[in-house]
Amino acid sequence: MTSPDQSVVAAVQTKGHILLATHYNPDGDALGSLLGLAEILEGMGKQVFRYLEEPVSPLYRFLPGCGHIQTDMEKVREFVAHAKDDLLTVCLDCGDANRLGTNSPELISFRPLIVIDHHQGNNGFGDGAWIETHRSSTGEMIFDLAEAMEAEISTRAAECLYAAITTDTGSFRYESTSSHTFMVAGQLVRRGVHPEIISNHLYDNYTLGRLRLMQEVLASLEMHERDRIAVIRVTQKMLERTFTTMGDTEYFINFPRAVRSVRVAVFLKEVSTGVVSVSLRAKGQCDVSLIAAQFGGGGHRNASGYRVKGQTLDAVRDDLLPRLRQEINV
Ligand code: 5GP
Ligand code: MN
Repeated sequence: MTSPDQSVVAAVQTKGHILLATHYNPDGDALGSLLGLAEILEGMGKQVFRYLEEPVSPLYRFLPGCGHIQTDMEKVREFVAHAKDDLLTVCLDCGDANRLGTNSPELISFRPLIVIDHHQGNNGFGDGAWIETHRSSTGEMIFDLAEAMEAEISTRAAECLYAAITTDTGSFRYESTSSHTFMVAGQLVRRGVHPEIISNHLYDNYTLGRLRLMQEVLASLEMHERDRIAVIRVTQKMLERTFTTMGDTEYFINFPRAVRSVRVAVFLKEVSTGVVSVSLRAKGQCDVSLIAAQFGGGGHRNASGYRVKGQTLDAVRDDLLPRLRQEINV
């Protein structure tokens, strides 16, 4: 299916004030789909609020419209008050309401609210939802939404959506990359996207600090289960030593994942004192979304994650390994 639910299209078409939100620690798809949809809606003459919990990581600041992102809840309240009945809240690429961040309870109180997403296990926490778990990215879905509304997709919007799709498909490599994904990418290129420029911004634009951080993170590599499970980690100390932020660790997990024998790669991240975020990446038949769900998280079959509070990185690993052993041995 490539067309959005008619109720979603109608909701977006009718309302004149749209509040857009996505998950905390946003990746390329979260930001690209949010900024792309914002451009499309503004092209339709609507008032749009681009809300994020935190400022955008430098890696993504090239995306058109980034400068309009607001992190201040007071400004959100003003927008909502001004919009009155003409308001629609749209949550993008966000598998559950908690992932909206600390302001989630207030954000989801701004109704009506619709959810557009491709995560497995999304319970559709809004008044309306368009969720297709086989989709490569939320960005791909936003293209179809624009088509269904017969809205114009400017070059700026196309750049955002292309960045969303290329990041969430690992540059068109993951299982979810379909013929439709390539069709959409082709249409975006027709609208003026230069793939090499987007790729340069995303993949050839790092700081030296990130390379030094990568050295430390890769040096932490542990192999388990006859080299079928790889574990790497990042600590706050490593970030301090290399003058980097957690955003700089994006894609590091692909290195252990790329080892021939590896079935599951694990990345343990000390996001703050006492809080560990776990990223899981699987190859082949392993379903790591089920494992993440056992620990209160979620995601996709091949890419999922969860958070743990009050445990050391070693303890988190020790809880996880027996579950992974079970999964790779079935
Ligand atoms: P990443 O490893 O890049 O942080 O996340 C990979 C996938 O797992 C993403 O699709 C993301 O939505 C999902 N994910 C990561 N952490 C969590 C979490 O704490 N809760 C849920 N529900 N999903 C998560
Ligand atoms: Mn996504």
